[in-house]
Amino acid sequence: MYKESESPVMHTYGRFPITLVEGKGSYVWDEQGTKYLDFTSGIATCNLGHVPDVVEQAVQEQLSKLWHCSNLYHIPSQEKLAQALTDHSFGDQVFFCNSGAEANEAAIKIAKKYGHDVLKQDNPLIISFNNSFHGRTMATLSATGQKKIQEGFTPLTPGFAFLPFNDDDSLDELVKQKPVAVLLELVQGEGGVIPADPVWVSKLAATCQEHGILLMIDEIQTGMGRTGKLFAYQHYGIEPDVISVAKGLGSGFPIGAIIAKEHVAKVFSPGTHGSTFGGNPIVTTAGLATINHLTQTDILDHANKIADYLWNALENLVEHKKEVKSVRGEGLLIGLEVDGKAIDYVNKAREEHQLLIVVAGPQIVRLLPPLTANQEEVEQFIAIMDKIFS
Ligand SMILES: *Cc1c(COP(=O)(O)O)cnc(C)c1O
Repeated sequence: MYKESESPVMHTYGRFPITLVEGKGSYVWDEQGTKYLDFTSGIATCNLGHVPDVVEQAVQEQLSKLWHCSNLYHIPSQEKLAQALTDHSFGDQVFFCNSGAEANEAAIKIAKKYGHDVLKQDNPLIISFNNSFHGRTMATLSATGQKKIQEGFTPLTPGFAFLPFNDDDSLDELVKQKPVAVLLELVQGEGGVIPADPVWVSKLAATCQEHGILLMIDEIQTGMGRTGKLFAYQHYGIEPDVISVAKGLGSGFPIGAIIAKEHVAKVFSPGTHGSTFGGNPIVTTAGLATINHLTQTDILDHANKIADYLWNALENLVEHKKEVKSVRGEGLLIGLEVDGKAIDYVNKAREEHQLLIVVAGPQIVRLLPPLTANQEEVEQFIAIMDKIFS
């Protein structure tokens, strides 16, 4: 057992006192061999469960061929993954990087470049929304609408402004401020699992369209089937110009990407952006196996059935347990609003019932089961929730 206070790893996380060493499907095991039901999926990353066979096999094969080569050469798995991502979305071209923050960095850079090159702006402005989360690098934390993320890291990167989320007044303000782009989460994940209002999103998309503002959706947590469609924007009947993807894209291998329409993508000419590891053979092989599984099997239908069952059970909890106040989210990205501290329930679930869940704010318990969870596992989960809440 590692002790946080003695660990040579920097103390940037409030780590739970368990050490996980193995995983398969919806379960993980700690170093003592204790088995946990994992309804965190590595925070929306292991959407196909832990060590899914299809991804494991593909990566094993690639491991004996080529691990890395520079982006100065064509990489077959990268070409194929870009093709699959564009075939199954609004987009025309893809840029690959290594994480969510880096994907949003790419989105921010491409928007600024578009502002300079196409709109001839000197100081392109990007609007994001209050309570959003876009990452921990300097530019992405500057784009994040939460003071607690920015505290201690001034001076921030300039060129960002914030407007209220789900608020009609933001639309008028948007037109006044003439930004090059908006950056939006369709379900604010870290901010407390708050879905965007569909009517507001339609109006926002129409405003962007009318005024030539790029619509950039942060799909890092909502993408790769998490909300019941491959990408969350597909629920809303809108066409973004750019989306950022990461977490679930590689089933646990570190990969991020932006997908863009051609008119935006073309401002990234040779030499304007890059990444040594971005889209390397191993991670794009993992990504390709992941998206093929999501688009070529009935896994999304399965996830939607499981989500229906789970939502019903959770609504039942809201009705019958006084500590559970509401349930919100989309598909298998779910927030439970509780009375008292969410972290206390999370700790109780782990310590007394070997169930892993996380928080999304002081009073929100966040549930992120794998899309592959079966009926029995969801029933097991519900039985535990039934015990946790009196
Ligand atoms: C997790 C997340 C990020 C940051 O991704 P990292 O891979 O941790 O850099 C950005 N935006 C959203 C919506 C996220 O959920």
